[in-house]
Amino acid sequence: MTDESWEIQMKIIMLGAPGAGKGTQAKMIAEKYSIPHISTGDIFRANISQGTELGMEAKKFMDQGLLVPDELTVKILLDRVAKEDCKNGYVLDGFPRTIPQAEVLDKALTELGDKVDYAINVDVPDESIITRMSGRRACVKCGATYHVKYNAPKAEDVCDACGEGLVLRDDDHPETVTKRLNVYHDQTQPLIEYYSKKDILKAVDGTVDMKDVFGAIVAILGE
Ligand code: ADP
Ligand code: AMP
Repeated sequence: MTDESWEIQMKIIMLGAPGAGKGTQAKMIAEKYSIPHISTGDIFRANISQGTELGMEAKKFMDQGLLVPDELTVKILLDRVAKEDCKNGYVLDGFPRTIPQAEVLDKALTELGDKVDYAINVDVPDESIITRMSGRRACVKCGATYHVKYNAPKAEDVCDACGEGLVLRDDDHPETVTKRLNVYHDQTQPLIEYYSKKDILKAVDGTVDMKDVFGAIVAILGE
């Protein structure tokens, strides 16, 4: 047995409505368990700011509050998880968002004799989502996220981490949020049952303070 086979493997999926706090918790999980945080939304946004073909294609859907088609999304995700830094696991934030995406991930992992370990559903009712998203501010440079009330940066609209300006994401305007919530209920929520049937679904109350949400997650994943 090599030393590597003793390392803990943790493949985690974050489920929840847009704005439920998946990204906030995924960053904390990544730091505590030393695994990469992989956000398909961040990958698309990085491509948009670099003006790549993938970014231009994804933007058409994102601006309308729609999902980027599975063919595009699945490819970037599989390429990302094949990278060396993912060998001890990862936390996926915003993927899968459809049953076909989940099936492709399961198939790819099964072929490697592997599997997803936990699907954590961050549960927040629709009523709280609009408030969450209208107060979210994102750094245009490093992607850090804040909330004007619940997680304010030290200086207004300036990123604590890199000093760049913070913006309200184009898709966080209330009209688009409502659309994204509908898309979530139609296409993503069925994943709760999908992972429940596989016996790996864990639910946490996402309405409490972010530190307490994280406490509940650590109680599931272990210290
Ligand atoms: P998601 O990744 O699910 O879209 P985020 O992690 O970006 O959601 O969180 C959405 C917004 O809500 C952000 O502005 C974030 O700072 C804030 N937020 C996250 N978790 C909580 C919480 N437990 N209580 C209050 N606000 C939160
Ligand atoms: P997020 O940053 O996770 O809120 O994602 C922002 C937007 O990117 C979503 O509203 C979708 O348009 C797109 N997106 C991110 N991840 C996926 C995915 N797994 N499948 C389809 N579209 C996605």
